Amino acid sequence: MRILLVEDDPVLADGLTRILQQSNYLVSWASNGIHADQLLQLEKFDLVILDMGLPAMDGAQILRRLRARHNAVPVLILTAQDSVANRVQGLDLGADDYLSKPFDLPELEARIRALLRRAQAARSATLQVGSLLLDTLGHRASLGGVALELSARELSVLELLLRRSGRVVSKEQLSEQLSDLGEEISGNAIEVYVHRLRKKIEVGDVTIRTLRGLGYMLEQRHAD
Ligand code: CA
Repeated sequence: MRILLVEDDPVLADGLTRILQQSNYLVSWASNGIHADQLLQLEKFDLVILDMGLPAMDGAQILRRLRARHNAVPVLILTAQDSVANRVQGLDLGADDYLSKPFDLPELEARIRALLRRAQAARSATLQVGSLLLDTLGHRASLGGVALELSARELSVLELLLRRSGRVVSKEQLSEQLSDLGEEISGNAIEVYVHRLRKKIEVGDVTIRTLRGLGYMLEQRHAD
């Protein structure tokens, strides 16, 4: 995991870098805002620790520019003690969490782990088997890079099949999944949705197998 540490106090930066390296993070250090801004445009980080009070370009400006570029990297801001205004401004500008100086190192590390976990979970909102992709947050599916036109029910069926790809999904489980959309679904209706979905995706490298009496299984089709 790559962390960008933006901190103008060399003693604090040095201490933090060493601690984070001991926890196996790769740490880059920027001691002023302009350098940080450049690094954020050139390189990809998994997390940014951003001091708000910096020379040349302050933390707020860096954050504003970062989010304007639609860069969603998690940002943990460091603020001066009791600087509520600073903290609020940072969070408003798109920081994910904050710590007030002075802080305990175990707390910093716990916050870092939490932010990285959250980012990981957000990424896994995308489900994929072969070239079939489903963005469960955006409710969009694509096959080989081409958007699929799916109804809400088809999307819902696809989501469950993808989450359990390679395993059998019963009609009851699908019916339960669909009942989240607010209605009772019969076994016949499930067959219809699966049939439609299968027709839409079978042009690609993924298939939905029917296992008589058991249910369905979505899997990648291998050329043989
Ligand atoms: Ca500072």
